[in-house]
Amino acid sequence: MNIRGQERREFPLSVRKAAFKRCCRDGVPHCETCGCELNGRTSTIYEHVVPDGLGGEPTLDNCKVHCRTCADVKTFTEDNPRMQKADRVLKKSFGLTPRKQKIVSLGFAKRPPQNSASRPVARSFASEESL
Ligand SMILES: [Zn+2]
Repeated sequence: MNIRGQERREFPLSVRKAAFKRCCRDGVPHCETCGCELNGRTSTIYEHVVPDGLGGEPTLDNCKVHCRTCADVKTFTEDNPRMQKADRVLKKSFGLTPRKQKIVSLGFAKRPPQNSASRPVARSFASEESL
């Protein structure tokens, strides 16, 4: 359960089978984005075109067969930023963002007194000497 109030809905087996058939050319499955061959070394990933977190249905129209590289590129460059923004907007509208607070710090240490012609520091010391 996330802030958008939905459980993740995976593709049912029938949809995955239909998508797998769709991406097969000459009996060999291919990635539907880059066209690379999906053999035993590259994992086959069924990807939501419209992300599940943003209301994408687990249907055949919303399913694409990807290789690991294409799936990661789509997930990290498109889907995650969109869902993070949706979360931020929802949190803000629900008032769930923490209040902005002023940073309280001790600041810097007070600088040591410096000698100057108009304001000699050693005055008290000098007056003690004169006594
Ligand atoms: Zn690919």
